[in-house]
Order: sequence, then structure tokens, then C-alpha cells
Amino acid sequence: LNSTESLRAMDAAHHLHPFTDASALNAKGARIITHADGVHLTDSDGNRILDGMAGLWCVAIGYGRPEIADAVARQLRQLPFYNTFFQTSHPPVIELGHLLSQVTPDHINRFFFTGSGSDANDTIFRMIAHYWAVMGQPDRTIIVSRQGAYHGSTVAASAVGGFGFMHAQPGLPVGNILHAPRPAWWAEGGELSPEDFGLKVARDTLALIDGIGAHRVAGFIAEPIMGAGGVIIPPDSYWPALSAGLTERGVMLISDEVICGFGRTGSWFGCQTYGTTPDFMTMAKGLTSGYIPMGAVGVSDRVAEVLTAKGGEFAHGYTYSGHPAACAAAIANLGILRSEGIVDRVADDIGPYLQGKWRALADHPLVGEAVMTGLIGAIQLCADKGARRAFDEDLGVGMMCREHAFANGLIMRAVGDRMVVSPPLVLTHAEADELVEKAWRVLDLTQAQLGH
Ligand code: PLP
Repeated sequence: LNSTESLRAMDAAHHLHPFTDASALNAKGARIITHADGVHLTDSDGNRILDGMAGLWCVAIGYGRPEIADAVARQLRQLPFYNTFFQTSHPPVIELGHLLSQVTPDHINRFFFTGSGSDANDTIFRMIAHYWAVMGQPDRTIIVSRQGAYHGSTVAASAVGGFGFMHAQPGLPVGNILHAPRPAWWAEGGELSPEDFGLKVARDTLALIDGIGAHRVAGFIAEPIMGAGGVIIPPDSYWPALSAGLTERGVMLISDEVICGFGRTGSWFGCQTYGTTPDFMTMAKGLTSGYIPMGAVGVSDRVAEVLTAKGGEFAHGYTYSGHPAACAAAIANLGILRSEGIVDRVADDIGPYLQGKWRALADHPLVGEAVMTGLIGAIQLCADKGARRAFDEDLGVGMMCREHAFANGLIMRAVGDRMVVSPPLVLTHAEADELVEKAWRVLDLTQAQLGH
């Protein structure tokens, strides 16, 4: 029953996988991961694989930490569930809010808890409309997002996101959304320098807002560094110009920190790395390092004041808002991040170490650019480096490269022809060497397969 073959057969018979073409999956069968420790996974055939993606960008503290398992088990014995509706609370949710207020920017001090990043974003879309209605500006209903952005898979979150292939799927009836350009210099910067291009994209975004009427725009949602859209690291000019323009227009910034939060970019939150002051922050993934599902919304003091003192009841909530076991996992996770100085280590030690090696991958003939901030990075595979020319999409070079990576004991994700990584933040120097050596070998194999 437990052989790889029988597990694959049962998986194919009964499991509907997210974001998966079932016919492609069934042709080969799923890869079955059975164990993990530190930054390595083990599959059902006993292969060890370096997880360059920290699961789905989430396992910040690495796998197999007994502190989390113990904290969750203790909480399950003491109080496995109680809700936070109707004026009730419990110690773990109280402690978690307090801890989060210590690590988020100074002006973010109140938190609404959810089960995931998608429903945290949905919460914000409702909360921001409620805020503007209470403030006497009910016309501010439009959310501006970015092309190629991923903000989740609920109806509202996927409508706000900018993945064309998700919009092509029926069932997205949410309106009042505009998609601004993204600061993807390699693909779209043309002849401009990265800094000039960053300014241009900021200006074009503000022009889009002015075109529709800034008084109708509730908020602008973006990740500090776009993650699932291909790890698009913005030129330094982008965020200062854009955030100043949003403030001038009274448009609130929603910083989606689902990937960038909890140390990924070398600060506790990506908005701190780029010096923006959001009114809403979306958190998930690194909040519990993925050990238990959980998301959260952080709001600025000015939003909190309206929600708590003027707004009346905000009719919104989830059974699992502030689930005690999830809170226990988050508290233990924050404890590890703080006591081990993991965020500073990303900024001062392992971040710069891996960045140096990773950027050297740009010397490979197949690589157009190799970028990394903190511990989130990408390499752009390309047909012609000098001309910044991409491969024909139909060749599926990214997928080819991803398969070579897996076969060689490395998880990298392919976003089109951008190979992205986001390893656990506890990566050692030796593991960073292993990651880059494997990536280089995988590039060689991809090049050989292409006969390039
Ligand atoms: N926002 C961003 C930036 C994400 O990357 C994701 C997931 O990858 C989400 C939101 C959705 O989070 P979840 O999958 O927990 O619903």
C-alpha cells in the first residue's frame, strides 16, 4: 500500500491538485514527499532534495522544528478551539497580536486573523471599502493591482490578481479592479536604464489612477517584491516615486507581505526594505513558517481608529480567525525568528553570501539576469543575452529546467522562463553552495537538451 506506485495511483484516483494539469500529472504520477528536515526533503523513493523554495515560500525556519510541534500539541490539549466572535478572546490570540505589534512597522498595531493569504486579502478588500464608507467617501471603491501579480485564489483575490490564465477561467465576477504595469526591467525595460524604467512604471501607475479619478480609488495592492509573478525585484527608484504619488492622492497602500514578510527580504517586512508606509499589510506563509495554516491583516493606526471607534460592527469573520493552535504555531515561530536572530542573519550574513554566488549565475550562457534581495531571487533564462531576447514560450524551457533541477536534487520553481528560489532562511553557507552548484549543473543540462 505504501509503495510509490500505489500512492501515485490513489493520488491520481482521488486527489484534485491545485494549479495542476491533471492529464500531465497522471502521465507521470505525483512526486511524493514523505519527510523533511532543515532545508532538505525526502521523497518516497528515498531521494534527498534541497528545497530551494521553502515549500511554497513559507518554511522560513526550516523543517522539523520540535518547538512548533510541541507548542501546537500543548495548545491542542489545553484549548483546541474557541472562536473570537461575539466579544470572546483567548490567550494565544492575545499574545500573538501583541508580538506582531512588536515586529511590524510602528504605525501597524492591530491585527485581524484569517486562515490564509487569500482570505486575508479578501478581508482587506471588504475592510477598505468599509473604511472609506465610514469616512464619508463611499465612491472610493476601485482597487488598483498589477499585471502579473498573484494575491490568492478566492474569487476576489484572483480577480484582483493579474494572472491572465486565472482571468481566463470563468467565475470571476468581481469588478472595480484596474491592473497597472509592473517594474519588470529585463522583459519590459527596453532601452531605459533600470532606474529610469522604475520611474516610468511609477508614473504610468499614477497616470492610470488619475485617468480613472483618484477620488474613486480605494487602494493600491502590491507585493514589495512580486513573488509568484517571477520574483520581480523593483529598481530602487520605483517605490519612493510610487508611494509618494499614492499618498498625494489619498490612495491607501496595501502591502501584500505574504511572501516578503517575516525576514524574506532581510527586514521583518518588505515594506521596511523599501521604506513604504502601508495602511494594510497581508501576512500568511512565514507567519507560522507554514506549519499550520494562518493569515493575518495588519492595519495602520488611522484605519484602526476608524474601525474601532467610528465604524460600528464590521460584518466579517472566519470560524478559524485566531485559531488557538495556529496562534501557538505563530508564537513559537516568531520566538525562533527572534531568538536566533534569523532576520538579521538574512540581512548581514546568509543573504549577502547567497546573493554573491547567485548573481554569478549570470555568467552562464543561458542566463539573462540573476537577481536576489534578501533570500528571494530569480534567474531569467534567455535565447540571447545581449539582445535580452526570451525563448519561444512553446519551447517550455523553464519547465525543462525545473525537471532537471528535481532530478538533480533541487527544487526551483519555473515562472515561465524565470527560475525562482526562496530557500528557508536558516540555510547554511554549505547549503547555499550546494544550491548554486546544483543550479549551475541544471543550467548546463538544460542547455545541452536545447542543443543551444
Ligand atoms: N498573496 C501572495 C503574494 C501570495 O504569494 C499568495 C500565495 O502564494 C497569496 C497571497 C495567497 O495565499 P494563500 O495561498 O495562503 O491563500
